[in-house]
Amino acid sequence: MFSVPLELPEFKVIKQEMHSTHYTVHVERKEKETRCPQCGFFTSFVHDRRTRKVRDLCILNKPLYLLVCVKRYKCENCQEIFTETYESIMSRQHYTNRFRLFLYEQVLGTTIQDVSRKHGIAYSTVERIFYTVAQEKVDLHEEYLEKMQDKQDMALSLDEVSVRKGHKYETVLLDANLGAVMGMGQNRDYESTLKLLNQKR
Ligand SMILES: [Zn+2]
Repeated sequence: MFSVPLELPEFKVIKQEMHSTHYTVHVERKEKETRCPQCGFFTSFVHDRRTRKVRDLCILNKPLYLLVCVKRYKCENCQEIFTETYESIMSRQHYTNRFRLFLYEQVLGTTIQDVSRKHGIAYSTVERIFYTVAQEKVDLHEEYLEKMQDKQDMALSLDEVSVRKGHKYETVLLDANLGAVMGMGQNRDYESTLKLLNQKR
């Protein structure tokens, strides 16, 4: 029998199985209670249980599947029935977050087609995961920039860049603290610079 550290601390391992083509680990969430999304009340009343098969990273080149015992709780305060949520698996997903990230990084090095073939996952699925993860990264980055800008006053700086081999100049508005480009204006005259600054108020 094999035993691997899953490194998903929210889960308790119930059983591990080794098959010729893959590994299976049966897991369930350690926490016995959860907060109702409707009213915020803590409940431990389990309404029902189902099993969801979730693909995780490979071990020794074999796919690892988690068989997650997914519990639906019933709120004892407002009677709402809801499914528990996980840190490592997004709701209704059949792939762990770290596997989604792994696929995304694989695609960066090759192509969607290669990754689809290599891991035996439909092209459209790899494509969807790739673009969703990419969008999540953009959102995270924007959130980070916004947070940083809230924390400190922006130190705006204006710069000029020449485009088209020095025949044309554009004005660039930078946040000097973040080194982030906040906007670009087509000309380098007073009017267009003013317009650029007004956009960022
Ligand atoms: Zn409730």
